[in-house]
Amino acid sequence: MELIKESHQRLFPNKEFLYTTKLEYNRRLSPFNANITLHKNQIKINMNLEWKSIDEEIKIGLIQHLLLRIFKKKANTTNIDIYTNFTKNIHILTPKTKIDPHLEESFNKVNNLFFQNNLEKPNLIWGRNSKRKLACYNFHNDTISVSTIFQNQDTNVLNYIMYHEMLHKHFKFKQNNSRHSYHTKEFRQAEKLYPEYKKIEKQINSIIRSTKIKEALSLKKEKNILMPKKKKKPFNLLRFFK
Ligand SMILES: [Zn+2]
Repeated sequence: MELIKESHQRLFPNKEFLYTTKLEYNRRLSPFNANITLHKNQIKINMNLEWKSIDEEIKIGLIQHLLLRIFKKKANTTNIDIYTNFTKNIHILTPKTKIDPHLEESFNKVNNLFFQNNLEKPNLIWGRNSKRKLACYNFHNDTISVSTIFQNQDTNVLNYIMYHEMLHKHFKFKQNNSRHSYHTKEFRQAEKLYPEYKKIEKQINSIIRSTKIKEALSLKKEKNILMPKKKKKPFNLLRFFK
């Protein structure tokens, strides 16, 4: 049976399957990313090429996870469990090729202070110049990325942000009803172990504010530029954290 249909039937055994399907592997998505769209009874799933050689039972879990998202339902299946465990171990399959020296210095410092140097080094990159997404840890490519607004700031601010993302790598995530929770109670407790974290959070807020003011000033000049109309985005697997 076709994989999307099979996943749907195992997830909703009493429901009729009334869709056409399209499953595509491509290089447009980042490693181990995937997305889903439902349009006029067609379910379309794109998977990054890395998924092609992965066991079908894991892929069924991935597809079920995506189906639950698009149908806004909650459920748990053995396949979803298998997929979740797989996700937690993708870092083993991921080559570490992108390590920015500035971020590496911060990582090493935090690893030494808080993790007894036990945390395996992920890819470490600068992200976009974003004020909303300050940093993130991406399980699918084992990468911590940090907004460039912190590039020329106090080292301690950067280290605190690094610490938060390293905690994500350390704790991974908890799963219930196919939803993943990241900022668990134990996560928040560990986060508070960082010395003077309240003071640093204030510093972060003021960095965001001053970046916004600078941007507002430069945007004023570009007011007349035509902005392209935004297309509806497919639900995407990738998650980003603070
Ligand atoms: Zn977070």
